[in-house]
Amino acid sequence: MFGVYPDRVGASLRYLLPFFLISVFLFSLSLPVIAVCHLHRHSVMFTSSDEQRSFMTTLPDANPLPSAFDAHHAPSKQIIENCVHCGFCLPVCPTYVLWNEEMDSPRGRIYLMKLASEGNAAMNPQWVSHFDSCLGCMACMTACPSGVDYGKLIEATRAQIERHHPRTFAEKLHRRFLFAVFTRPDRLRLLRWPLLAYQKSGLQALVRGVGLLQLFPKSVHSMEALMPKLEKYESVPEITPAQGAKRRRVGLLLGCVQREFFPQVNAATARVLAAEGCEVVAPKDQPCCGALMVHAGEETGALALARKTIDAFERANVETIVTNAAGCGSNVKEYGHLLRDDPNYADRAKAFAAKCKDITEVLTELPPRATRNPLRMRVAFHDSCHLQHAQGVRSQPRQLLANIPGIKLTEIPEAAICCGSAGIYNLVQPDAANALGDRKAQLITPLNAEVVATGNPGCLLQLQSSLARQGQVTPVVHTIQLIDASIHSKPQ
Ligand code: SF4
Ligand code: SF4
Repeated sequence: MFGVYPDRVGASLRYLLPFFLISVFLFSLSLPVIAVCHLHRHSVMFTSSDEQRSFMTTLPDANPLPSAFDAHHAPSKQIIENCVHCGFCLPVCPTYVLWNEEMDSPRGRIYLMKLASEGNAAMNPQWVSHFDSCLGCMACMTACPSGVDYGKLIEATRAQIERHHPRTFAEKLHRRFLFAVFTRPDRLRLLRWPLLAYQKSGLQALVRGVGLLQLFPKSVHSMEALMPKLEKYESVPEITPAQGAKRRRVGLLLGCVQREFFPQVNAATARVLAAEGCEVVAPKDQPCCGALMVHAGEETGALALARKTIDAFERANVETIVTNAAGCGSNVKEYGHLLRDDPNYADRAKAFAAKCKDITEVLTELPPRATRNPLRMRVAFHDSCHLQHAQGVRSQPRQLLANIPGIKLTEIPEAAICCGSAGIYNLVQPDAANALGDRKAQLITPLNAEVVATGNPGCLLQLQSSLARQGQVTPVVHTIQLIDASIHSKPQ
């Protein structure tokens, strides 16, 4: 029957084939997410502040319940009591800025911890939702005049939640999928080929152009929008010799997303360190450092990865361990706390953590030896939360960028507030993450920067996709890439 209209059928097939291929490709990529979203409809969500306020099972005096927490590293009552409810942390808390809800502020969350620890609140879905919505950005710690260590509280609370709160099947599936992929560089590397084919074949442009993503769940949009633009893979050798007289032997933590999706950042880090007289060791057997798991309350998995990371770097015998992903850096600096109960690792973890430094800390310690050639451009610097709040590193990247001749450094307003990246936050809470990303992009746009620089791969992805939503094509790079470009470009 097709023989009657061979030309029309052929033309139709040519027209329909790309759509069929696109659909099959996206469908296969998003199967786990579709399952999650379908099942997610059955989970409890709170949409109004009245509902949020009414959830707590408050049982004053008469018959208090036992604490909702178990005895294994329950959130410290002493830290909870340090909070004097002053509210100085509220204006910098991204979720409070978005929703203006007390229970989605640091003060409110600490109060919820207190109620649960005293047996006056149950660990029910509503209670948990306020901790799931926290970005773990630690802006509240920087703002707090009483020195409340919210980082320790949220880490302990999340571990308790994962032990005691029955997540829905959908949530479990989603989390398992994310941890199974994003903590395994070998699996991320396998993803490079289909993603490269998707980008380089023009399929991505077509999919975005015809709005095909509108047919898929929101989580698929977020994942697709956050996809990095993949370039040729640049591997870092296990040993990069120092140029000139050796000043230090340093280890390089390669990360997971950084290693596979931003290999050019690791390559630039090794080149700059070598140019500054460091011998760089990048142990091939280093695993994921466990940052994503720690920040999500997956304690057992995080401990196993921390032990393996320590083993790998002990064998490398280095003086300093250099990190260039702020989320990883803040995690490895806390290994002493994480492994405090392990008699085989407690001391080794402290020694390991004491050696860890962000690349910008290392470079400001070493008086520059390599010549910086001019880069004539206007650069907006974005503080990653895990660099500025969790590690207290603010001045170093600015100082290094300002020392590059020709660079005009400009500040982004609301620097203390998160861009919405926060580990896997932009994959599990896409609405809040997009709202924060859009807010940040709207603050960057009027600066007319030619480049945005930052110190974390998550921020890089988040800013790129947020700027793209605003129709901006401003490139976003890691700070070290500008330093590398300055050292290794030809003098102008
Ligand atoms: S960590 Fe960030 S999101 Fe969470 S309470 Fe503190 S400021 Fe708010
Ligand atoms: S600033 Fe510190 S003491 Fe004040 S409410 Fe926030 S956490 Fe509590």
